[in-house]
Amino acid sequence: MEIKQSDFVISAVTSGQYPKDGFPEVAFVGKSNVGKSSLINTITNRKKLAKVSATPGKTRLVNFFLINKVVFFVDLPGYGYAKISKSQQQSWGNMIESYLKGRATLKKFVLLVDSRHKPTDDDILMNNWIRHYGIECIVVSTKIDKLTKNEIIKSDKLIRETLKLSSDEKILHFSSLKRTGKEELIDTIFDRIVE
Ligand code: GDP
Repeated sequence: MEIKQSDFVISAVTSGQYPKDGFPEVAFVGKSNVGKSSLINTITNRKKLAKVSATPGKTRLVNFFLINKVVFFVDLPGYGYAKISKSQQQSWGNMIESYLKGRATLKKFVLLVDSRHKPTDDDILMNNWIRHYGIECIVVSTKIDKLTKNEIIKSDKLIRETLKLSSDEKILHFSSLKRTGKEELIDTIFDRIVE
């Protein structure tokens, strides 16, 4: 599978603005600075499709991209930015929950975790949320270029234990810098979504 076309559709502020075309959707989520924009740009071969936010955690927009004219990629705002207020955190939570609950076309989540750190409490919460709603979750360990082979093994173990992943669940390794893990991630995303 190759991503040949990716078109920006909308930066939605309210759920009323979400597209109604009915295409299957894949949502990308992770803490601020995990490498989500870079990953989306890497897999779509675009430099600036997903914008690297100047003020992490401030953007509360849900960005929709139409991929190969058949699937939406949905870039959800990053969480866990230290400087945001409790009320901003609350509004993030409400937004994600209403998206999770109300979106029949949502097929998969790509949950990004930083390979260099233990998954945070927010990562755990997000992972539990996704699973609670019964949505398939692809766990991606980012910035893998920063680790040695041994460190990758340790990191995988920590991610697996912290997120309580079952032994048959894969952790995909990704580096935007080295462009590693790209094909496997794209294949996993598109698996069983489109013919
Ligand atoms: P976002 O906030 O999750 O969208 O994260 P960004 O994609 O904006 O990346 C955050 C920072 O991490 C930037 O300084 C990127 O250059 C850096 N970064 C992103 N992906 C990688 C990667 O694969 N390897 C390395 N070494 N750095 C990365």
